[in-house]
Amino acid sequence: MFENRTVYLEGAFIPASEAVLPIMSHSVGRGSSIFDVLSFGRTKEGRAIFRLDEHVARFLRSALALEMAVPLAAAELQEAIKETVRRNTLQAGAIKIVGFYPDPSFSLLPPGKPLHLAIFVFDPVEDFGERPLAENEGVTAFVSRWRRLDPRTVPIEAKAAANYLNGIVARTEAKNLGFDYAIMLDLEGNIAEGGTESIFLVRQGRLLTPNIGNILQGITRKSILAAAEGIGIETFSGSLKEELLGDADEIFFAGTIHPVLPVSRVGNRTLPGAPGPVTQQLSARMQEIASGRAPGFQNWLFSVCK
Ligand code: PMP
Repeated sequence: MFENRTVYLEGAFIPASEAVLPIMSHSVGRGSSIFDVLSFGRTKEGRAIFRLDEHVARFLRSALALEMAVPLAAAELQEAIKETVRRNTLQAGAIKIVGFYPDPSFSLLPPGKPLHLAIFVFDPVEDFGERPLAENEGVTAFVSRWRRLDPRTVPIEAKAAANYLNGIVARTEAKNLGFDYAIMLDLEGNIAEGGTESIFLVRQGRLLTPNIGNILQGITRKSILAAAEGIGIETFSGSLKEELLGDADEIFFAGTIHPVLPVSRVGNRTLPGAPGPVTQQLSARMQEIASGRAPGFQNWLFSVCK
């Protein structure tokens, strides 16, 4: 149960049930919290966090983009995250780092103070009732009428709670129409990403994904591109027209919680045989890497053992 997990809050370790935020805080009222989500799992050497350095760096970049001050340096933040995992018995799951402003406020401007920090460890299914997905189970998706936030409106590379209104409306629309996930286009009508997922297409054996610029710099996205090249799959990052969704042999979402999430239907189009061979190959490869069974990828894993 989530309430029983141990949480890092401002340098102390406390029960999750005590990690609460005042309703009038700036972060509740204006969505001014930043966060990052990581995953950890079992390896031969004990529990390890996937690409801890990259996630911490992205969290710090989120803060920088929004002129927020983080009270810990990268190495201190990495250690606090590892220690939070050590203090919990969960063997595999997710980690969320949150930077927030707890002080009551009515102002639009955030308080000119450093962020407060909390770190949670959880199992999305057990703790928050997320739908469990069997290995290789496909999901349905729908091209949303809501366009991906444009980088000229807000710094979209910041993982700020307020930016997620975009994904919320898109995913809600998809759900209301009977689909699991949303695919968002950018303002030019090119494929961007899901609400909280990067997207990949496979066409004639090539792996295609939108370029960074109008999307979040997904760490899974970057990892899959490198992993694919390592096993001889040709990759392309660039502008992808919406029509490609009707043409692609395979489509999958990518993100920390479900590294490779096959799409079995987009709108009216069923993708026969999903997950296709490239999706399956990459899914297996990502599992090998995350569990420490792939030589050459050890520097992506950060053991929590002392
Ligand atoms: N796009 C968006 C908008 C996201 O919120 C996420 C989740 N962080 C992703 C893509 C996937 O990123 P990652 O692989 O780093 O989890």
